[in-house]
Amino acid sequence: MDLASVYPKDGGLESFLQTFSRANHVYVRAYDASSRPVFAFPGSSDEEALLKKYVPAENVKLLMNAFAKNPVEEVIEGEAFAPFVEVRAIAAKNSNHLVQAVFIMTGIAGEHVQDDEQVKKTLRLTNIESFDSSVELLKSFIDYYFSQRLENINLSNTLNETIQAGGRLEELLKRNEVMTDILKMLEEEGDFINVCDEILKEAGEFLDVSDAFLVRLSSDRQYCDIICEWKNEGFPALSPDYIGAKAELLPFLTDRPYTISSDSSLPPAFKAFFEKYEITAGMFLPISINGEVSMYLSFVASDPKRQWSIEDIRFSDDVRRVISTILVKRVTKNSLASSYAALDCILENTGCGIAVFDPGRKKFLYENGTFQKMFSDEGDRSNVCDTLFKQNGIFGDDERNYYAVNSAKTYDLSSSNIRWVDGSDVVMSTFYDITRLKEYQNKIEEQASTDFLTGLSNRMRFEMDFTQEIREAVRSGEEGTLLYMDLDDFRGINEGLGHHVGDFLLKEASEALRVICGKKAHCYRIGGDEFAVLLPAKHHEVRERLIEAISNRFSKPWQLETNEYYCTICIGVCLFPKDGTKTDQLTQRADLSLRMAKQKGKNVVEYYSHSDPKVLTRRLDLERSMRGAVERGCKEFLVYYQPLINVSKNEPVCCGAEALVRWQSEELGFVYPDEFIPIAENLGLIVPIGEHVLIEACKRCRYWNDFGHPDYKVSVNLSIVQLLQKNIVETVKNALNFSGLSPENLTLEVTESLAANDMPKMKKILNDIKALGVRLALDDFGTGYSSLARLRDMPMDLIKIDKSFADDVGKDNFSDAFVKTVSDLADTINMDVVVEGVEKDSQEKALVGMKIDMIQGYLFDKPLTREQFEEKYVD
Ligand code: C2E
Ligand code: CA
Ligand code: CA
Repeated sequence: MDLASVYPKDGGLESFLQTFSRANHVYVRAYDASSRPVFAFPGSSDEEALLKKYVPAENVKLLMNAFAKNPVEEVIEGEAFAPFVEVRAIAAKNSNHLVQAVFIMTGIAGEHVQDDEQVKKTLRLTNIESFDSSVELLKSFIDYYFSQRLENINLSNTLNETIQAGGRLEELLKRNEVMTDILKMLEEEGDFINVCDEILKEAGEFLDVSDAFLVRLSSDRQYCDIICEWKNEGFPALSPDYIGAKAELLPFLTDRPYTISSDSSLPPAFKAFFEKYEITAGMFLPISINGEVSMYLSFVASDPKRQWSIEDIRFSDDVRRVISTILVKRVTKNSLASSYAALDCILENTGCGIAVFDPGRKKFLYENGTFQKMFSDEGDRSNVCDTLFKQNGIFGDDERNYYAVNSAKTYDLSSSNIRWVDGSDVVMSTFYDITRLKEYQNKIEEQASTDFLTGLSNRMRFEMDFTQEIREAVRSGEEGTLLYMDLDDFRGINEGLGHHVGDFLLKEASEALRVICGKKAHCYRIGGDEFAVLLPAKHHEVRERLIEAISNRFSKPWQLETNEYYCTICIGVCLFPKDGTKTDQLTQRADLSLRMAKQKGKNVVEYYSHSDPKVLTRRLDLERSMRGAVERGCKEFLVYYQPLINVSKNEPVCCGAEALVRWQSEELGFVYPDEFIPIAENLGLIVPIGEHVLIEACKRCRYWNDFGHPDYKVSVNLSIVQLLQKNIVETVKNALNFSGLSPENLTLEVTESLAANDMPKMKKILNDIKALGVRLALDDFGTGYSSLARLRDMPMDLIKIDKSFADDVGKDNFSDAFVKTVSDLADTINMDVVVEGVEKDSQEKALVGMKIDMIQGYLFDKPLTREQFEEKYVD
C-alpha cells in the first residue's frame, strides 16, 4: 500500500508530524515500506544536514529490516554516530502485522551535548525522559491515525456511495481535524488553564456533550476543584459547585476510568450526581503525573439516548493524553522555574540573612537582600567570609553567636553543607540578627551577677565561677585558692556613723580588693560585709603575696568622709582541690576558717585545717543561743564584779568594782566574755546585752552606796558598737535615772581602739556622755593605736594600763618605763591610773612609787558573783 495515498499531502499527517516534532523538540519522519521518506523533513535544511551525519540512510534501512525480523516489536532503538543522539523507529502495522510504514524519531539529549556549539545552536534539544514519553505519545497516535486512515480508505472504497457512510466519513475526517487542532495545543506556551479551556471547547463541541470539565484533586485527595469547564448552551455549569469541594461529592475521583452510556447500568455511587445535574452519560478519565492521579477529564451528556462509540472513547482518551503531556511538560519546565521564582522570592523577603558560600573558592555564590544589608560594611563582609572559610564546612553546635565588629551586631549563625547547582559542595548559612536579644541577655546576666552597691560580682556569679575554677584546678594539677573574708569592725561603723558611711566603706573596701586582685584573681561580694576572692590555679604562685597585700591594706585606716577609720579584715583560706572539690564544701570550709580567724582576733588570716570542724558548730550554736537569750530578756547574762583596789593610801582598800559580764547559757553552759562578746558585737546583740549590764551595775552600785559605801564606783565596759549608737547618751542617762545612781560613781570604760576612728566625732560623743557627770576610763591602754600624745586629747578621767604591762613590770625595763611614764603623764593632766591584771606580790611591789592609783587583779580577787562581792566588800 502506498502511504502517500493513505496520507495525501492534505496537511493531515504531514502537518501533524511537523507540529508534533516542534512541540516535542524532536524530528519525526515517516518512511514508506520501501524505506523512502514520505514527507519533507520536519525542520530546516541545516538541521536535516546535521542529522543525516548522525543517522545516515543506511541506519534507517537497518531499522526497517529489524522490524521484518522481529514481527512482534513495534518500537526499536536505532544506532547513531553520536552519544547524544537518540533514535527510535516506530512501526505502523496492519492487522496482519505487516509493516505499512515506519516513523523514525530522532532527538538530541541536551544533557549529553557537551561542548558541541554547532549542535546546541542548530538542533532542537530535548532530554532522555521527554524523548521517551514523546516516543510513547507518537506511538499511540500512529496506532490511532493509521487504523483510522485504513478504515477510512476501506470505507471510502466500499461505502462511499451511501449517505450513512458519507456522514460517517465526514465524522471521521472531522475527528482528525479536531485532534490535529488539539495537538497544536501542545505547542502553546500560554497559561495551562487557558490552553485546557481551548481543548475542552474543541473536544466538547466535537463530542457534542453537555459539559466538559477538568477536575483537580488536592494533594491529600480530600478536596477537589473544577479548574476549567466548557458547557453547551442550556446546561448548568458545574464548576461553581466544585471549588474546594469535598472529594467524595464527585463519584468518579478514583484511579480508574468510567465510561457510562445512557443505557449502562449506573453504579450506585453515581446516582445522586447524575440526578442532580440531569446527566445521562459520562466519560471520566483520570490523568496522572509521576504515577499519581491528580486530575480528571470528564465529559457528560444529558441526551437520554447518548451512547459512547469506540471512537468517542478513543478520542477522549487521546484528549486525556494531550492534557497529560502538556501537564507533564509544565511540571518539569514551567513549574520548576516558577517554584524557583517562588523560592527566590521567599529567600529575598525573609527576615534572616541567607548566603551560599563556596569555601573552595572563598566567595559567596548567593546572597539574599537581607544578608547584603547585614553585611554592607566591607570589613564585616570580609570577616564573615574569613570565618566561613575557617570553618571549612565543619560546624559545631556550641558557638553559634557571630559578632560583626564594625556594625556591632550579633547574629545567630547556622550553617549546613549543601550541593550547589553546579554540583560543588558549598555551605549555606543563615544569619538572624540577635543583637537586641543579646544585649538584653547580657544586661540581665550582668545585673543578675553584679552586686548593686559595690559593682563587684555577687554570690551567684561566685558560685558559677567557683565551679569552673575547681574544674580548672583539678585539670591542671595546680592549687586554686579561695579567700573568704569578713570586715572586723563594720557593724560599729555602719550603725554608728550611719549607713551611708557604711556603704561608702564597703565601696572603698571593694575597690581596694579589686585593685589588689588585678587581673589574676577575681573578687566577689558575698553579702553584707563578707567578700570572697578566687585565685585560679594557674596563678597559684601569687597566693601569699595576694593575702599579704589584702591584710596590709586593711590594717591601714580608711578615709571616710573627712576622717580616718580603721576597719580590718579576717581571712579564711581554702585550697582546692586539696581541701575539697565541691563548691558547697569548700565554701563552708573557708567560712569555718574565717570564723576561726575571727575568734583569734582582728586582721587574722586562717588556713583551713581538717582538724576542728567543731569550732564552726560552736560558733553557730553561740550565735543561735545568744539570739534566744537576748529575746528572752538577757536574764542569762550575769554581771560579775572584780574589786578595784585603791593603792594610793597606806592600806589598800576597795573603792568599787568593774562589772564583767558572763553568760550562763541554758543550752551551752557558762560562757566567758572573751568568747561571746566579739560575736555579740558582730551580731549587734552587744547593744541589748550591754544595756542590761549597765542597768544591773548601776542598780548594784546604788545599793552599795546606800549601804555604807557612798564612794564605791562601778566601772562598766562599753563596746565601740554601743558607743556609736545614736542614743548612747540617752541609754546612759536612763540607766542613771532608773537606778538613781549618782553619775560620778559610774565609770564607763572604752577601749583605746576607738581612737583609731574619727577622733573629733568620738570626742564629741565622749563629751556628751561626760556631760552627764559620769567618768570615763581608757581601757587596755598600751595595746592599740593611740599614742601618749593623743592621750591629752581624750576627755578621760582614768587610764587602765593593760595586763601585758603588769605581767612584765619589775622584770622588763620597757614595761617599767611605760607604766612610769604613763602614770607621770596622768598625774600632770589629772587622770587616775589603774594597772590591770596584777597577779603577784612582786608585781604590786614593783608598782609602788609609780603614782599608781588603783590595782585590779587576781592578787586581790577574781571577778566575783554579786553575792560573793557584796558578802566580802559590802556587808
Ligand atoms: P577587760 O575590760 O580588760 O576586763 C578585764 C579582764 O581581765 C577580765 O576578763 C578580767 O577577769 C581579767 N582579769 C582581771 N585581773 C586579772 C588577772 O590578774 N589575771 C588575769 N589573767 N586576768 C585578769 P573577763 O571578765 O574575762 O573579760 C574579758 C573582756 O570582756 C573584758 O576585758 C572586756 O573587754 C570584755 N567585757 C566583759 N564584760 C563586758 C561588758 O559588760 N561589756 C563589754 N562591752 N565588754 C565586756
Ligand atoms: Ca574593762
Ligand atoms: Ca582591760
